[in-house]
Amino acid sequence: MIEYQGIPIIEVPENFPDIQKAIYEYKSRAEDSHSRRPVSSNWASNVGDPCERRLVYEWLDWDKKDKFTIDALLRFDEGNMQENKLILDIKEAGMWRGQKIDVIEEQKHFRLPKELISGKIDGIISWNAKRYVLEIKSMSPVIFNTVKDLQDLQKYVWTKKYPTQVQLYLYGIEQENGILILKDKSSGQIKQFCIKIDYDHIHEISEKMCRVNEHVKAKTYPDRMEYNEMTCGYCPFEHICMPDEAAKEVDVVVDPEIIMKVMRMHEIKPIAKEYDDIGKEIKTMFKGKPQVIIGRWCLSGKYIQKKEYTVPAGEQWQTRWSDLTPNAGAKK
Ligand code: SF4
Repeated sequence: MIEYQGIPIIEVPENFPDIQKAIYEYKSRAEDSHSRRPVSSNWASNVGDPCERRLVYEWLDWDKKDKFTIDALLRFDEGNMQENKLILDIKEAGMWRGQKIDVIEEQKHFRLPKELISGKIDGIISWNAKRYVLEIKSMSPVIFNTVKDLQDLQKYVWTKKYPTQVQLYLYGIEQENGILILKDKSSGQIKQFCIKIDYDHIHEISEKMCRVNEHVKAKTYPDRMEYNEMTCGYCPFEHICMPDEAAKEVDVVVDPEIIMKVMRMHEIKPIAKEYDDIGKEIKTMFKGKPQVIIGRWCLSGKYIQKKEYTVPAGEQWQTRWSDLTPNAGAKK
């Protein structure tokens, strides 16, 4: 028998089960019930969706919704696990050195009857005899690193919905203040943002959802929005709303080397942008100075004459990147 440091190494039998396959099959059982269920209210996490037509589809065409992929189901699980772990961390840290931070009323439900909105709150942070609605979102490092303030959440269709979700929670359980915590799924780092109730925004959401509910009642649909890859491209109703777009041919690359290159390219994108931004700021600061010593660096500059030229007309191949990861319901 082969041994390693006194421990016998047993060969894996030929018929040993494929664990990845077993897990995928097990997770897939939940696919139908997760993806397609009749709807009885507008879910708070969806309400910030820019497309009202899609919100109507959720009610009227729930049985035609694209099913979640196994990747999406695995991401759900991973996200839930990370978010639950963070609640435990907050509780543990909150007891340390008498900080008295606690998380209470976890998974509390609420319903707004007029707008037919329901939601489930991650918890309430209790501190200094005050209550703060808590919402936790885990995300990929690429997205996490680009979010410096609440305004940055407007960059992506899925993150745009987060502040609206917190506003609804505040309104739903009559609280003034909330905390949105973002967690980097890879490094475990977190960022926190305070959100105060905004009654103007609540009013806008209320009007929007009343329009949606009117359509549902009348079994009619709002107009389609103009096709947008970031919204329609991820929409689980694209195949019934815009069948021509949904049927477009897609080439799927499985070469790991190319996949790794593209992943790396997107990983370093925020750093490359920061490099460019800081570079531009510094160059503007010292424009016109022939030589400037900054720490161990020397910045040299001179004026050069630019030649004028015209670009000849012709066909050009235009490309654009879209991240398929964060939207859990994405089908592509
Ligand atoms: S495909 Fe586009 S327009 Fe149609 S429901 Fe989806 S997001 Fe809205």
